Amino acid sequence: MNIHEYQAKEIFRRHNVPVPGGGAAATEAEARALIKEHGPDVVIKAQVHAGGRGKGRVVKRDRASRTYNDLTREPGRHEGQISGRRRGGVRLASGVEDGLKEFRPLLDKDNRLVSIQTGPEGAPISAALIEQQTSIAHEYYFSIQVDGASGQPLIIASAEGGQSIEEVNRTNPRAVLRIPVDPVEGFPAFRGRTLASQLGLPSSAIRQAGEMFANLYNVFTEMDASLVEVNPFVLTGEGTVLAIDGKVGLDDNASFRHDGYEAWRDRSQENPTEIEAEEANIGSYIKLDGNIGCVVNGAGLAMATMDTLMLHGGEPANFLDIGTVNRKDRVVEALRIIVNDSDVKAIFINIFGGLARVDIVAEGVVDAVNELKIRQPLVVRLNGSNVEEGRRVLHDSGIDVQTADELGDAAELAVQAAATAARRRSRN
Ligand code: GDP
Ligand code: MN
Repeated sequence: MNIHEYQAKEIFRRHNVPVPGGGAAATEAEARALIKEHGPDVVIKAQVHAGGRGKGRVVKRDRASRTYNDLTREPGRHEGQISGRRRGGVRLASGVEDGLKEFRPLLDKDNRLVSIQTGPEGAPISAALIEQQTSIAHEYYFSIQVDGASGQPLIIASAEGGQSIEEVNRTNPRAVLRIPVDPVEGFPAFRGRTLASQLGLPSSAIRQAGEMFANLYNVFTEMDASLVEVNPFVLTGEGTVLAIDGKVGLDDNASFRHDGYEAWRDRSQENPTEIEAEEANIGSYIKLDGNIGCVVNGAGLAMATMDTLMLHGGEPANFLDIGTVNRKDRVVEALRIIVNDSDVKAIFINIFGGLARVDIVAEGVVDAVNELKIRQPLVVRLNGSNVEEGRRVLHDSGIDVQTADELGDAAELAVQAAATAARRRSRN
């Protein structure tokens, strides 16, 4: 689960990571009070679960996808700025009136923040973080994540932090330090000081930076985070270090160990269909970029299904892992979620019955086709418990469905069906 920058900074503050004074505002009255308290010079930042806000744009919802195309095709001409005429999701302002002028468009419910990370729909802005402005001498990058390959935390840091860190990583990878951390040793302040001098921080800031890194490592472990990223942390004009951005990802599997987890969650930033599937308790739904809707059971089969589709030149639009289902109405509900996704041009149902009985799944598929009047081509592959009965149910039902016994054959059918449906649509 991702949380907002303002929430990350509340956590930072509790762990003695230095952050600018400020807070989140959802109304004009709150914004006014924060500017009075922390101004007159403030920075006003859109709170969304996506990065690249500074270079993003705040636009009317119906212009979001055009803006997204502009930003990805011709960034130089369209990127947002922190001051000047083409303001983005991070804005400098001075005084209450100027501050409110920059605040209002962020909180307009018809507006979306579009950045290269939000996708063409943009993100609704949940609140604005209003902070005391910082005078920046230099911007640095710092992050901690779990490195799956080594099974250890990995610290990544660079003296070339800020908005173009991805480009630095591509063009000048030697400017990016990678430090694996032994979780038993942790990352004490003395190691933080070594890192601070490697980054070329001035000697007067080394002690404070070393402590900040160690405290960020504590945030990472104590919060069961999957990611703690500070881009940038800065050396201020006064020679101190300060975390002026903060991104924290929490591991949902550890939610039971933390109070307030539910309060941190912001459903408005999540995919509505994923929430629907979760709340209906149907299984885990994941939205993807392609055009084949997938119903599977089990995470392993989900991965194998995606891989096989891609191997045959297809792209999943989503997948819904329904787990062990032995009720046909739940299959209907699962398919209702799949067909609601307008990207879906063909549906691929790939079920292996271990504890689940595939004949019941087959009955659910038949009910769904009849009840939901499914119009997309349907490919079904069933295997496992009661498979003969399951295949007979499909065959006898008279519904329009293609079947195959082997995963590869079934995937190929699904890819062809989606391609044909997509071609037909583009001709119309
Ligand atoms: P992001 O674009 O979503 O990563 O948002 P950031 O919070 O990282 O802000 C983007 C950029 O705005 C930073 O890299 C800074 O260059 C600039 N910025 C943010 N806050 C301040 C501030 O208080 N003062 C100044 N001068 N620049 C700031
Ligand atoms: Mn940033």
